[in-house]
Amino acid sequence: MITIDEKVGLLSDYNLCDHCFGRQFARLGRGLTNFERTWIIQSFKEKEEEISEEMFVRENIPNGREKKVTEDCQICGGRFNNLDEYVDIVKSSLERYSFKTYLVGTRVPSEVGDAEEEIWENVGVQWVEPIKSEFNRIIGKRLEKRLKEDEGLETDVDFKRPDVNPVIDLSKGRAEVQINSMLIHGFYNKLVRGIPQTEWTCGKCKGKGCDECDWTGKNYEESVQEIIAEPLIKETKGLETKFHGAGREDVDAKCLGNREFVIEVLEPEKRNVDLEKLAEEVNSSGKIEVSSLSFAEKDLVEKVKKRRANKTYRALVSLEEPVEDERFERLNKLIGTVDQKTPTRVEHRRANKTRKRKVFAVSWDNITDESFELTVKGEAGLYIKELISGDKNKTKPSVSDILGTETVCKELDVIGIEKPEGFEDV
Ligand SMILES: [Zn+2]
Ligand SMILES: [Zn+2]
Repeated sequence: MITIDEKVGLLSDYNLCDHCFGRQFARLGRGLTNFERTWIIQSFKEKEEEISEEMFVRENIPNGREKKVTEDCQICGGRFNNLDEYVDIVKSSLERYSFKTYLVGTRVPSEVGDAEEEIWENVGVQWVEPIKSEFNRIIGKRLEKRLKEDEGLETDVDFKRPDVNPVIDLSKGRAEVQINSMLIHGFYNKLVRGIPQTEWTCGKCKGKGCDECDWTGKNYEESVQEIIAEPLIKETKGLETKFHGAGREDVDAKCLGNREFVIEVLEPEKRNVDLEKLAEEVNSSGKIEVSSLSFAEKDLVEKVKKRRANKTYRALVSLEEPVEDERFERLNKLIGTVDQKTPTRVEHRRANKTRKRKVFAVSWDNITDESFELTVKGEAGLYIKELISGDKNKTKPSVSDILGTETVCKELDVIGIEKPEGFEDV
């Protein structure tokens, strides 16, 4: 293994600025800048002392030195003199966006990267830091300071998922900004039938517009997603939204049980959304009602999509023939385990198999000769329409089977959804 002195000796063949020289020793000591490492090395060299790891501490930074960065630095070409200019470029690239967290990235000209690698080949990579990461760190720190001083903004670096990720290209002198989506978690009710959960692109024209979809590109005029997205896009000036529901009800079913969802705004310019006002605007649609809105982290999306909540449904059930009132008592036989082969109506998109699902409770009401109302509490994944019709004996037992006449689900509402863990009180 190379010693610090040996490495210093090898580096004397090159003309490096204080940043680029010190960066070859970046892993030595803490709380030091790379040019301070250069000064520490220089001062011990002047005293002709052997250099050791322990010397890289703040107390050893010699006084009265000035940072030397010249254009003939063989790695950076003097670019460390332009730091303030780079900060200006990054700052102006972010002007349109509101954000709390950032991460600066740097693209260095290829000759800079090549020069750095050539030196590593000859001198080794022990203790080194790549030039990119030094630029990223310094520009980021200065940006944070400027945002605070000039605009009074409190921001923080975030290495995992920053709100904004400006990447400055040093040779082009401009920065491109990657913007991470903003997520809002909440619960919705669908107060009317005939609305799908998400925007439904016309299958025939794939959204381009055709006769079939009346040139809208969509199969339904609106959706839960679009009704929530509209005020949200207006507020955030985002590009579009993605909608993630904890399951979904059929287009023709109401949902009154507060279904959990996360809506994701892509490339928002503004993030300081007033969630109460957003809820008011959505709720004024009279069709969708949202509650308990909060800002969410990205990892909640997968959790929400995987939720398996037990639900309570209310169905309006038609009777082919009148059924005596006493016979309805037999519906209690539904309680327990139901065998459901994949329903005919979803066969094209679900694997064909038999699922065992639990029915926890049933009750009935408003019996007439033609219909009655059925309330069922069932396990996640229970197909209610088929529990009623029997789906040509694919679901056993079924309401048709038990009542001895053909029964069909005419209207279906989700009236209760078990709250996920951590949200029991909302
Ligand atoms: Zn340099
Ligand atoms: Zn179409």
